Amino acid sequence: MTQQELVSGLLALLPADAVLHRPAELLVYDCDAYTIEKAVPMAVVLPGTTEEVAAVMRFAHAHGLPVVPRGAGTGLSGGCLADTGGLMIALTRMNRVVSIDVPNRRAVVQAGLVNQKLNEAVAHAGLAFAPDPSSQIACTIGGNVAENSGGPHTLKYGVTVNHVLALEVVLPDGEVVWLGGEGEDWPGFDLLGLMIGSEGTFGIVTQARVKLVPLPPAVRTLLAVFPTVEDASNAVSALIGAGIIPAALEMMDQLILQAVEAAFKFGFPLDAGAVLLIELDGLEAGLDEAQAEVVALCERNLAREVRVAADAAERARLWLARKKAVGAVGRLAPSKVTMDGVIPRTQLPAVLKAIAEIAERYELRIANVFHAGDGNLHPVTLFDERDPAQVERVLAASGEILKACLAVGGSITGEHGVGVEKNAYMPWMYSEADMALMEAVRRTFNPDDALNPGKVLPTRKGCLELSRLVGPGALRRGGAAC
Ligand SMILES: Cc1cc2nc3c(=O)[nH]c(=O)nc-3n(C[C@H](O)[C@H](O)[C@H](O)COP(=O)(O)OP(=O)(O)OC[C@H]3O[C@@H](n4cnc5c(N)ncnc54)[C@H](O)[C@@H]3O)c2cc1C
Repeated sequence: MTQQELVSGLLALLPADAVLHRPAELLVYDCDAYTIEKAVPMAVVLPGTTEEVAAVMRFAHAHGLPVVPRGAGTGLSGGCLADTGGLMIALTRMNRVVSIDVPNRRAVVQAGLVNQKLNEAVAHAGLAFAPDPSSQIACTIGGNVAENSGGPHTLKYGVTVNHVLALEVVLPDGEVVWLGGEGEDWPGFDLLGLMIGSEGTFGIVTQARVKLVPLPPAVRTLLAVFPTVEDASNAVSALIGAGIIPAALEMMDQLILQAVEAAFKFGFPLDAGAVLLIELDGLEAGLDEAQAEVVALCERNLAREVRVAADAAERARLWLARKKAVGAVGRLAPSKVTMDGVIPRTQLPAVLKAIAEIAERYELRIANVFHAGDGNLHPVTLFDERDPAQVERVLAASGEILKACLAVGGSITGEHGVGVEKNAYMPWMYSEADMALMEAVRRTFNPDDALNPGKVLPTRKGCLELSRLVGPGALRRGGAAC
């Protein structure tokens, strides 16, 4: 199908301003926040209703067109890359809060609603949507569902799958289904659970019924300053080991602090090896004692200073610094890749040391800002994507970092998804039988692999590229496609 035929077909289904096809319009959609790979779709549509999404999917299905769903494009693994061309469906116009049910603590929202807008809409009732990715001012609920996103506060409150009751989904052939229900644990197979985290490969989410949590009555936010990353890591193990479950436990290393300070002038100590941002919440009674215990544990692990936010304004400033940290790194280099590995918390010192060694060996600067309480690392590699030699070094170093995570019993991703960035690594984690089962599940929902093709499961192209960078011996050859 030519682009002209595609556009005329789409214009028969949607208003003219909902069909983008000019080169300058399409350029905006050539990548997400993983900028190493770029590809422009043939056209982008901006549907306003579920019926429009279904009509577009029926059209694409009839013509065998690949379709890529997209929310705000803040994904960090190339999940909405249109690398096989075709059509992109961006959900950003479907951004309404449909209903809020305060007594039952639920809301129904359209998939393109921005995460923070949901929180703003329910704050008057003392409620919140718990998953709070650091990108929450931009990312959509549909993207959160597709990636099963986490965030700083998911240490205590859980990730997206713990906060969704039901989804309206348009399947690849255009059929519309609701998965889940009004309450928890509906009979039958857990299709809702399968859909959440399927990275846009099983269906297009158009609406979500989400759970809301009460805002905590009292909060304490602390900033603990450590001479080294190792001391901060030891404090993380000590806090969790003592049975304290902070609402959030985030680490920023020296390079991140320098970037944040240069961008926002928050007054962070630039000579610190790392800081921990620790939040405690719950009933007022007992919170002072918990705070005292946290301060004592940090000091025992060589914290040179522990600041407690004096009021809501100071707390907001500390969180702004954390949530803007990855963006602030943009001041240090033209390009960056934010990795996402998971390790057991007790392995933090060893793996952070391994990351520093990898950075030195590949002559790269790697900054660390991450959800330390979950053992969810985010090494941010700085480079210049215009230099192919640097890009090769970044990809090879990224593979080594994930191998270091796997070597201590971790995972190749915690919350950013597999996308195209890590699909070739999947056989490092899973056996041939595991991969075949995943492939069979995908075929059940998406038999022609027309919906978000080439994501999550390995493609031959990805495997060949990976073996070129890290050597074929590195791959577990039992893997299905590698
Ligand atoms: C600065 C920064 C900080 C971040 N912090 C965090 C964090 O703390 N925690 C975290 O988990 N992630 C984080 N992320 C990653 C990203 O923001 C999340 O993955 C987010 O949920 C993506 O939402 P989005 O709307 O931008 O989705 P997109 O990037 O547009 O898409 C992501 C994936 O979801 C699919 N998709 C999107 N919408 C739909 C839909 N309606 N139906 C079906 N599939 C769909 C796409 O095909 C793609 O595979 C961060 C990203 C940035 C840039």
